[in-house]
Amino acid sequence: MSNLKTKVIHGGISTDETTGAVSVPIYQTSTYGQNGLGQPKAYEYSRSGNPTRDALEHLIADLEGGVRGFAFGSGLAGIHTVLSMFKSGDHLILADDVYGGTFRLVDKVLTKVGITYDLVDLSDLSALTAAFKAETVAVYFETPSNPLLKILDIKAISDIAKAHKAITLVDNTFATPYFQRPLDLGADVVLHSGTKYLGGHSDVVSGLVTTNSEDLAEQIAFLQNSIGGVLGPNDSWLVQRGIKTLALRMEAHAKNAQAIAEYLEQSNQVAKVFYPGLESHAGYQIAKSQMDGFGGMISFELSDDSKVKTFVESLKYFTLAESLGGVESLIEVPSVMTHASIPKNLREKAGIKDGLIRLSVGVEDISDLLADLQAAFDKIGANA
Ligand code: PLP
Repeated sequence: MSNLKTKVIHGGISTDETTGAVSVPIYQTSTYGQNGLGQPKAYEYSRSGNPTRDALEHLIADLEGGVRGFAFGSGLAGIHTVLSMFKSGDHLILADDVYGGTFRLVDKVLTKVGITYDLVDLSDLSALTAAFKAETVAVYFETPSNPLLKILDIKAISDIAKAHKAITLVDNTFATPYFQRPLDLGADVVLHSGTKYLGGHSDVVSGLVTTNSEDLAEQIAFLQNSIGGVLGPNDSWLVQRGIKTLALRMEAHAKNAQAIAEYLEQSNQVAKVFYPGLESHAGYQIAKSQMDGFGGMISFELSDDSKVKTFVESLKYFTLAESLGGVESLIEVPSVMTHASIPKNLREKAGIKDGLIRLSVGVEDISDLLADLQAAFDKIGANA
């Protein structure tokens, strides 16, 4: 089954074999009766395995082309578990605009156990090559990145990492497997905040991970069970239910985002628009070649950044909130909200200005969204 539109519905484990239920039931249980001493059935204890979580784990592996999937209580729980493969003395190369929470995890938690890192602009492949040390074990990045929608060349980066005997970890949260499959392009591990497009309805926090390496899968399985940050059965069911409409939602998000990005680009109240579907975007050509669509996220700078507060507080359909990827449109200011955990000097070095605004474009009617934005522009214009 190759078509993602079919896979999101029928991939992984999509029905219940025992009862024929067309929706995998929520197995709300912590443990499982055993046939006899030392004779467990398929499951023993729900941290180690639960049929509802298992269905979701098979599904993410199937969608991304992995050999095994893993579901966690949050995106960061998944990222932490994967990065727990590394040990004191190991060195990581991180993209210079990774999600603030990922940066904080590496900078404040992993460095305490002796892991070191460098932030590198991975769109500069010679900077990447120069950043490798003998101790470098992995390259970690998002593409499109959060919040600047930077596009990184997954194949080129993975090839360079392989040549240095390092693995490549790609956070595929913004694109989702519907628009981009990093394992096919040479990455070793794919990570997701399932909280975002995979769940799709802003009602569950979750993380998903998959890999196409049996060896890495074994290590991650061991760590998932040892650390224990697993996703519960109810939330696993919600994410699997969300994924069933991933194709429909991603098409709608991308269509609305393209229209809004083009509208913003022609506004004289906007200084700069970051959206990979715009020909003016630095990563447009790479995005076109490695993605099947450009996604639903846009960032932009106002010409007058003293108007940011009024602008983001003036919208009716764009809720001022962190997170992204739900059916409803959201707006936020990364320097104050999602990326506040990155020190200002590092944020600015990565190009994240204090006045940058990020939109998660929902699937509402496009004319309502454009009218909402226009009313906010009229308001800040009138205040000029
Ligand atoms: N990766 C990206 C790109 C994110 O945007 C986020 C959260 O915003 C995370 C990872 C962390 O995921 P979670 O909030 O589910 O822990």
